[in-house]
Amino acid sequence: MIRRLIVANRGEIAVRVFRAARELGVETVGVFPRGDAGAAHLKHCARVERLEGDDPRAAYLDIEGVVAAARRAGADALHPGYGFLSENPEFARRVEEEGIVFVGPAPGTMEAFGVKTVARRLAKDAGVPTVPGTDGPLGDADEAGEAAERLGFPVLLKASYGGGGRGIRRVEGPPGLPQAFEAATREARQAFGNGELYMEKSLSRPRHVEVQVLGDGRGAVVHLFERDCSMQRRNQKLIEESPAPNLDEALRRRLHADAVAVARTGRYRSAGTVEFLVTPEGHFFLEVNARLQVEHPVTEAVTGVDIVRSQLALAGGDLALPAQDEVRLSGHAIECRINAEDPRLNFLPAPGRVVHFDPPGGPGVRVDAGLLEGGEVSPHFDSLLAKLVVHGETREASRARALRALEDFTVVGVPTTIPFHRAALQSAAFVSGRYDTSTVGELGPLARPSDSELEAAALAVAVARFVRPAPARAAGAQGAAGKEPPSALRGAFGPRGGGWFHEV
Ligand code: ADP
Ligand code: ADP
Ligand code: MG
Repeated sequence: MIRRLIVANRGEIAVRVFRAARELGVETVGVFPRGDAGAAHLKHCARVERLEGDDPRAAYLDIEGVVAAARRAGADALHPGYGFLSENPEFARRVEEEGIVFVGPAPGTMEAFGVKTVARRLAKDAGVPTVPGTDGPLGDADEAGEAAERLGFPVLLKASYGGGGRGIRRVEGPPGLPQAFEAATREARQAFGNGELYMEKSLSRPRHVEVQVLGDGRGAVVHLFERDCSMQRRNQKLIEESPAPNLDEALRRRLHADAVAVARTGRYRSAGTVEFLVTPEGHFFLEVNARLQVEHPVTEAVTGVDIVRSQLALAGGDLALPAQDEVRLSGHAIECRINAEDPRLNFLPAPGRVVHFDPPGGPGVRVDAGLLEGGEVSPHFDSLLAKLVVHGETREASRARALRALEDFTVVGVPTTIPFHRAALQSAAFVSGRYDTSTVGELGPLARPSDSELEAAALAVAVARFVRPAPARAAGAQGAAGKEPPSALRGAFGPRGGGWFHEV
């Protein structure tokens, strides 16, 4: 059994893990870098450890720094959350060398699934269809050219070590390929520390459907059904739902079985996700995310399984997985990612201070948030500030509930994706459940804020700060109190500020 857990992360996911740990009676330790002492997640843990270094992002990525903090804290287990070091096998190995339980897959599993070409081979060996592409990495631009001729344009150059929607470059035809190859190699080296590329055929209008799995590390794997994550911008998810709408029942069962087959090849331990692309031609393995995923709460809502609690129990060595037929799906759940981004400016990240934060509540509504009112959305970190997850008896009930909750959701100080979600959930494509990864890009041109909207936003900021002055920031935190973030006027709208799309 785990006694003291350190969470090597921040924001909503650190809060999420602390909640599960505290319910299990596990002592909790949070970490923070210089300048982040006021971060929201630190309010949810029993004690804190500071990470060394001046660059806040680098501090979370510093393997030895994080391991040292775990040692100082006397932690016997570490949860990595998502992003940062969560899929780094070297980190997992270092943690285990210290005699600390890594809450996640075995390092060897992460090593295999973390390299997309290796994961594709494992899937193929398990008899699972993969997206048409190269079997291994591409040696040079000439090899890329031959592969592209064989697959047929358009193709995607993908970083073997990529993730988070980055490291994917589309090439329309032969003339652009050599240059794209050089640029993608360079970018991959810079972003992921390894320039290796492979190629996939660019599928036309695929759906992204993924299957949540849990494994006990001894070969037993169960699935927790699927999620549709096709509502994306820049290859990143904005809305997820479970179950996937309009999915042929035989195909659904095939996806579940194939996900389990892939996870079994590695004797998968802990929670993981097997991602697929689905087209009218069939389903194709995409990759495995060997970690907890952002959108895990939609699965928790429809199955009643607490995935983080399961991870902790599995890591502590005391969970027998449920039998597959004991995992039941009930109702329908939708998640909206509330990012500090301006949907009118192509989802430009918009860091700044959140002067007013008033999340919705009521039956079937869950908000996982990672900030405090008055807190700073830092340019150093992810723009995700909260997740709205709703559960209803039917898809339509769930959609109506999400719209109601979005109306009740007020964030003042930074622009957010809330207006996008309100428009997207009412779009014909989403209402019919017939959408794919191109849908978000086609929802219509984004309206610029009008002068009156800007005035209303400025007024809202002023009123919110008057009514509830921001708390004093911890020493060293960014953004002096009283100094208005420049983004404040760019769009800080209450729930009823509309007009994001000309037409939806
Ligand atoms: P999910 O599959 O859980 O939706 P995302 O792709 O949204 O995950 O990624 C979750 C977080 O992890 C984001 O902050 C994303 O930028 C980050 N992330 C995921 N994979 C990588 C990676 N290989 N390198 C850097 N950041 C990553
Ligand atoms: P990441 O590791 O960054 O999550 P993925 O390989 O999972 O990268 O792809 C992310 C998204 O990019 C997919 O959900 C999909 O929208 C798009 N994508 C990836 N590969 C293809 C492909 N071969 N054809 C069409 N779209 C793709
Ligand atoms: Mg992916």
